Amino acid sequence: MLKAVYPGSFDPVTNGHLDIIKRASAMADTLIVGVCGNPNKQSLLTADERVELLREVTKNLENVEVMEIEGMLGEFAKEQGANVIIRGVRDISDFINEFQRAIINKQLTGDVETIFLAASPENITLSSSAVREILAFDGNLDMFVPEAVKAKLKAKNEREG
Ligand code: ADP
Repeated sequence: MLKAVYPGSFDPVTNGHLDIIKRASAMADTLIVGVCGNPNKQSLLTADERVELLREVTKNLENVEVMEIEGMLGEFAKEQGANVIIRGVRDISDFINEFQRAIINKQLTGDVETIFLAASPENITLSSSAVREILAFDGNLDMFVPEAVKAKLKAKNEREG
């Protein structure tokens, strides 16, 4: 029985995240997508908005749940009975960070393993920060985020911009 957590900021969720979610949900019995607040980053979307968008774009994936992670990832995984953490890796700099986090999470939890999925070739240069930059210049987001995300971001931009 594989219960996995895929944590991230998802500010906003991109096609790269969605690709990892689909591939991980095909391997796991249950996949929890965990929305983390990052104290070092100022976010574009609130945690509630990020959760809502993730629920919308994963609504057809039956074994996927979306939740907010308030405390430490390792503790959250244990509370949920998850035995695996999923992370996506785009390049060597992701790998260095992810490798360190994986070791620390293993030290903290004892038995929660991290599985890395390599980004699909079309997504290796895609990041939430690139999407936020394109949005700031009101650029075309069609290639980078699902339709529901684009609609939400454009509406937010118009309201606040
Ligand atoms: P964090 O702030 O925790 O890195 P992100 O939302 O930026 O959160 O990313 C969550 C996870 O998804 C990370 O493992 C990251 O490496 C991975 N990821 C981000 N963008 C992509 C992408 N384009 N393709 C594959 N994985 C990605």
